[in-house]
Amino acid sequence: MINIEGKRFVDEGENFRNYTYAQFGKKVIEQPKSQAWQIFDNKVIELLYDEYHFEKATFVEASTLNSLMEKTHGLDKKMALQTIIDFNNACSSNKPFDPTTLDGKKTSGLALPKSNWAQTISEPPFRAYPVTGGITFTYGGLKISENGSVLDEDENPILGLYACGELVGGVFYNGYPGGSGLTSGLVFGRIAGLGASQYLHQRHQVK
Ligand SMILES: Cc1cc2nc3c(=O)[nH]c(=O)nc-3n(C[C@H](O)[C@H](O)[C@H](O)COP(=O)(O)OP(=O)(O)OC[C@H]3O[C@@H](n4cnc5c(N)ncnc54)[C@H](O)[C@@H]3O)c2cc1C
Repeated sequence: MINIEGKRFVDEGENFRNYTYAQFGKKVIEQPKSQAWQIFDNKVIELLYDEYHFEKATFVEASTLNSLMEKTHGLDKKMALQTIIDFNNACSSNKPFDPTTLDGKKTSGLALPKSNWAQTISEPPFRAYPVTGGITFTYGGLKISENGSVLDEDENPILGLYACGELVGGVFYNGYPGGSGLTSGLVFGRIAGLGASQYLHQRHQVK
């Protein structure tokens, strides 16, 4: 994955997609014009998620890396080609490629390594997908107490106000493991529900 200056900016093989996609999206947003290109060769096309094969998926395809670069827009083609050449030269590991595990097939000699699944981009046809980041969620919302009560700026509970799910802040703000949103909703939803029912119960008893 390269930015429009033709430079890599993440360790694409750091971990499985589920552990990196939210963080990598943020990294893409931080790149010039918030854009990046994902480049694949024929060896891995069949491994791509369904969305890469949707009718409306945007990509360019070519039989050589040079002609692939010619088809891209807004990309520093010379630097991009050099980055791919350097990347390919760094793919010297003899370990077998295994997309189902952290295979340790890593680059050697690059300042920014690819730690797993490092194969050369060498088998035509080649594809380049232009990408940017989207907002799936923020997880940067309200602060809550241990019983789900929303806290004010002085950390005091706001009586009768409970929160759970995505609008609760701090849980996944710095990193989101895929599939954990609904688990968080369930866990904190139960806590907030119990908290709210206890609050109502106490209020009822006071009356
Ligand atoms: C593209 C995408 C893919 C995801 N994939 C997964 C996944 O695979 N696994 C997983 O665990 N999680 C996934 N998530 C996260 C998961 O969907 C959310 O964590 C979860 O839906 C949050 O539930 P919630 O009830 O907190 O919020 P929401 O589902 O956002 O519910 C909030 C509700 O409040 C309503 N609302 C907003 N303002 C008002 C208002 N003023 N008055 C009345 N109603 C209002 C909204 O219309 C909405 O219905 C995904 C999220 C997205 C966007």
